[in-house]
Amino acid sequence: MTSYLITGAQPYGEDATDLLLRDGMILAVGAEAVQRSAEQTDLTTLDGEGLIVLPGMVDLHTHLREPGREDAETVETGTRAAALGGFTAVHAMANSSPVADTAGVVEQVHRLGLQAGWSEVYPVGAVTVGLKGEKLAELGAMAESSAQVRMFSDDGHCVADPQLMRRALEYVKSIDGFVAQHAQDPSLTAWGTANAAQMNEGEVSAVLGLPGWPAVAEEAIIARDVLLAQHVGARLHICHVSTAGSVEIIRWAKERGISVTAEVTPHHLLLTDELVRSYDPVYKVNPPLRTQKDVEALRAGLADGTIDVIGTDHAPHPTQDKECEWVQAAMGMTGLETALSVVQHAMVDTGLIGWRRFAEVTSQRPAQIYGHAHQGRPIAAGEPANLILVDPTAVREVRPDAHASKGRNSPFRGLQLPGQVRATFLSGHPVVLDGALATPISSQAGLPGRTGDSRP
Ligand SMILES: [Zn+2]
Repeated sequence: MTSYLITGAQPYGEDATDLLLRDGMILAVGAEAVQRSAEQTDLTTLDGEGLIVLPGMVDLHTHLREPGREDAETVETGTRAAALGGFTAVHAMANSSPVADTAGVVEQVHRLGLQAGWSEVYPVGAVTVGLKGEKLAELGAMAESSAQVRMFSDDGHCVADPQLMRRALEYVKSIDGFVAQHAQDPSLTAWGTANAAQMNEGEVSAVLGLPGWPAVAEEAIIARDVLLAQHVGARLHICHVSTAGSVEIIRWAKERGISVTAEVTPHHLLLTDELVRSYDPVYKVNPPLRTQKDVEALRAGLADGTIDVIGTDHAPHPTQDKECEWVQAAMGMTGLETALSVVQHAMVDTGLIGWRRFAEVTSQRPAQIYGHAHQGRPIAAGEPANLILVDPTAVREVRPDAHASKGRNSPFRGLQLPGQVRATFLSGHPVVLDGALATPISSQAGLPGRTGDSRP
């Protein structure tokens, strides 16, 4: 097996050092890496000067669309996008067709991820049968399947019935899992009706005459669910927090010791509902783009630890579903290949966080929340070699037509953004080199399973 010596790269953007990777691990760091590189029979040396070394990013919120919507994305194309974006693990949301609400479907998605070999794929199980919000899916069977599902979500839909949400929390507690809630009160957003919410409710929606998606529809569900999580003593994760009020409620809950974690998307850290004035459906997303005040609260919440993780909510759609009238257009944006750049731009280059905190929110915390023992680990000898090399000085124009994802619906198209993933190592194997796809990891070699139990 090839060994890799990375010279002069900067872990977390700090002092430059050398790293020796072999057999899926970081074998040595510093002077010892150079010494032991002499013992290697098959050694490739990579010049890491000027590059930052970070743990491979872990996305808790990815839509891979397979099975059923292979016209939008496949596990193969989605994980190519993940690798290029610096993700060594993604969690595939359950709103495929059929819905991932049985052991059979989650095992299929898990197997497709192993076959592709670009990034680890962990299927998320649906909370309710068919995402219908009526009765619990086979959570235990999905947990006991070969996919070992621990994360359950009806994402795209809210588990709106409080009694059903309580039962879901009780069930996941018994199998050491957690529920990831898409917080959206269906009644307050007229969901499923002809007058369904189209954008953030506020000044811009009033001017444009589009039905509004009020902040309270998110905040009311989060408030209810943190109380339910406290009552049950179960773990709750809040998907794509989008409002200042939600940040306040989560801060309140954490101060009381409630076991809640929260994520924010790159797009909610940068974009506002002012963009909707263009009527370009590339800006249509659920939850919607909010106001500058919300963006600032989300950034502050991510910096101070109220918000735990970045989740991309990568949501590719076929062109015809996005390039149409606003009201008909699908909701969602791609995100895997731009996440690092957007977060660098919004959070690091603004001085709100450093690369250590970047590594926490993109890798360490998401891995802890799921319970991965081999992802989100420190850059140190003896640790698994899931890591990325990033050029923070590169500035590139976002060109969705050049993306590996099938989705062209990036709201960042045309923007000049900083940061480029130069290499992605998955279990010590370079799936990305020189900023381009290399070769996938052999499925015969296998990927490390979910071992150990690291908890937040
Ligand atoms: Zn969602």
